[in-house]
Amino acid sequence: MADRKHRILILGGGFGGLHAALRLQQRLARAEDVEIVLVSRENFFSFTPMLHEVAASDVDLTHVVNPVRKLLRQVRFFQGDVEAIDLAARTVRVAHGSGPAHHAHELDYDQLVIGLGSTTNYYGLPGLAEHALPMKALGDAIALRNRVIACLEEADTECAQHGGHRSALATVVVAGGGFAGVETLGALDDFARQSLRFYPNLAPSDLRMVLVHSGDEILPELDPRLGAYARKKLAARGIELRLGTRVRGASAAGVELSDGTTIPTRTLVWTAGTTPHPLLATLPCKKEGGRLLVNERLELPEWPGVFALGDCAWIPDPQGKPYPPTAQHALRQGRVIADNVLAELRGGEKRAFSFRTIGQLATIGRRAGVAQIFGLRFSGFVAWWLWRTIYLAKLPRAEKKLRVVLDWTLDLVFSKDLVQFATATSPTLRGGPP
Ligand SMILES: Cc1cc2nc3c(=O)[nH]c(=O)nc-3n(C[C@H](O)[C@H](O)[C@H](O)COP(=O)(O)OP(=O)(O)OC[C@H]3O[C@@H](n4cnc5c(N)ncnc54)[C@H](O)[C@@H]3O)c2cc1C
Repeated sequence: MADRKHRILILGGGFGGLHAALRLQQRLARAEDVEIVLVSRENFFSFTPMLHEVAASDVDLTHVVNPVRKLLRQVRFFQGDVEAIDLAARTVRVAHGSGPAHHAHELDYDQLVIGLGSTTNYYGLPGLAEHALPMKALGDAIALRNRVIACLEEADTECAQHGGHRSALATVVVAGGGFAGVETLGALDDFARQSLRFYPNLAPSDLRMVLVHSGDEILPELDPRLGAYARKKLAARGIELRLGTRVRGASAAGVELSDGTTIPTRTLVWTAGTTPHPLLATLPCKKEGGRLLVNERLELPEWPGVFALGDCAWIPDPQGKPYPPTAQHALRQGRVIADNVLAELRGGEKRAFSFRTIGQLATIGRRAGVAQIFGLRFSGFVAWWLWRTIYLAKLPRAEKKLRVVLDWTLDLVFSKDLVQFATATSPTLRGGPP
């Protein structure tokens, strides 16, 4: 241990973990005595605000994600699954390797940053684990895009019409009227309607889009006037809004709702709930609502040298309420943690995290959106344009920005791509001599 470098271990390559690593990389560029190690399940950083654009074929599948290695050249990256954290022994168990080579490593650390995010929760509702699609990661967006295209293909067949399956195949139900749900449904509605001309047996009236939301108004994070604007716009397009309603369960036939109705569908998208990362429950420290309770300097008070941020941390604001779990908070927390890790390492004052939400924006399809920035409200095309401009600026790396701009530009000229993203390899034959 004596000749080992001081190790800063970051768990999670999402908004929080990545921005902590970026800042540390910059500040410790010439440090010979410190190594920064980032462990994450995927080898890329997902820009979640644009995931619905992948699901709806607005941008290419990989254009909203960035390889961690291209962002963090001076950080040791380890792709693996964090299986256990031992705060007393100051070690983290990380599993990796495929097939028989699957094994685990114990990584020790001097300072630890926990940024493992949250996990989709189906709250034990019957059938959801089998039949619902989450919308949280790149793989989810790709799976959703594939599902919608597969359903359009099948719905277009005569068998679907004669078998009476067409309407279930052409129905999309999204559960959750927050940002992710509204943006996903708005984008899928555009995608499906614009694709209809390639499916001659399907009419616009065959498509059914439903948003199920337990609250009285959609987009509750925004000013109610913006929520009302979005609701009216979606309703005017024929999107059904089931407000004050919950999903009770799902089956191969459809979705059961709390109002006693069942909507026949093959596509249920679940954006109605997340829960803190399951690993957090194993940690012997204080929690609030399952999230790690940290102080304003983002430290776990009982465990010196351990920090937490983003969706997996409960961070008190100056009024003692938790900061919301958003990307704009997580990335700024990452920078504060990096400064505090350095203050601990090199000496200096640690700083408290303090941030007021600058703005919130959502697209609702048809080149319209809603936005609230510095207390000002925007809606319609202007809000959509602001959404695109602001998120494009925030998407990391010039290469990906350019690719997204090209996708958006080509989208003005060409119709949406209907190719299913195939992951299965081609069929092969086993027998017979050549
Ligand atoms: C569809 C969608 C749209 C959103 N839109 C917006 C938006 O417009 N604006 C906004 O501010 N916020 C938005 N958010 C919220 C935002 O994405 C989160 O608040 C933010 O990502 C939280 O950052 P984080 O670092 O805490 O977690 P995450 O970004 O989720 O990162 C967690 C990381 O931990 C890794 N990980 C998890 N478990 C393990 C494990 N066991 N082993 C190894 N690695 C692991 C994951 O792979 C991931 O890299 C959106 C979220 C979603 C799902």
